[in-house]
Amino acid sequence: MQPEEIVRDLMELLAVPSPTGRAEAAADLCAERLAGYGLPVTRSARGAVVAKIAGTGGGPARALTAHVDTLAAVVAEVMADGRLRLSPVGGLPALSCDGAYVEVWSRGGSVTGTILPEHASAHVFGPRYEEQRRTWQEMRVRLDLDVKDREGVLAAGIRPGDFVVLDPRAVVTPAGFVKSRFLDDKACAAALLAAAGELARGPRPARTTYLHFSVYEEVGQGAPAGLGADVEEIVAVDMAAVGAGQASDEHLVTICAKDSGGPYDWSVRARLRALAEQAGIPYVEDIYPYYASDATAAARSGRDIRIGLFGPGVDASHTHERTHQDALLATAQLAVAYMREE
Ligand SMILES: [Zn+2]
Repeated sequence: MQPEEIVRDLMELLAVPSPTGRAEAAADLCAERLAGYGLPVTRSARGAVVAKIAGTGGGPARALTAHVDTLAAVVAEVMADGRLRLSPVGGLPALSCDGAYVEVWSRGGSVTGTILPEHASAHVFGPRYEEQRRTWQEMRVRLDLDVKDREGVLAAGIRPGDFVVLDPRAVVTPAGFVKSRFLDDKACAAALLAAAGELARGPRPARTTYLHFSVYEEVGQGAPAGLGADVEEIVAVDMAAVGAGQASDEHLVTICAKDSGGPYDWSVRARLRALAEQAGIPYVEDIYPYYASDATAAARSGRDIRIGLFGPGVDASHTHERTHQDALLATAQLAVAYMREE
């Protein structure tokens, strides 16, 4: 596996908007790629992509899951002045959206706009520009339409409930960093696709293995939709939280010990550690203070499963994210090692 290939897949995924609830385009892309590797692909009722790879040995099945849905918003209210108030989908901080370019997916087609605070002009509002709060109550979408009132916006076909997607701002830098709003979790979806390609080129895994691309993670509803009753272990492949006090790093894969949902299974962690060490994969272990994964969602669904979590270090998560291709490669390598575990 080459890091450049993972970055190329990642940029392709980032170019396809896939808000939670309308993530089908990114899911289609993953399904096509898996089918291209000759893997059997099915879709769950809710749209998750599932490839079930039959194992050569016996024993219970396992799953690796990454999510292709991203943070977004929907129109909450069309204001009297023709601006839009939004309701976030998932944990999208309003402050990070000041100045974001968006598309509103209305019944009349796609309309572009910009998220701005109510008092957006520094020349008109002076100090009020700095002082005003930037929560979803105060932020507005200025539509690129010649409309000055609610009636004009309604006439353009825009209604409460319409999806609002943000410009992903995806960039690869010469030093190997990837920046985008939505590395969570397309970075891991790309790493998992690379791992699937590697698996398809080599021997089949000993255990029956599901590769799962979920479409409702950001609202805590992703896995286990689409996973068979034979699955005894679910490992989420999702971003690791980088920041002050964290061990996670943009160049490493993190094996998560605990997040807000509680500890991950100790035996899964121990095996992931051993696999990383055997394969010489650069990793750390860490905890995440404000975080839950699709593996947690699966456990909360009442399934009797062991859960695990690993993924690349991502700085400034849910705002202006950045990782490095080193971490993408390490994540893909750990996914391959896990699938090939004896
Ligand atoms: Zn995520």
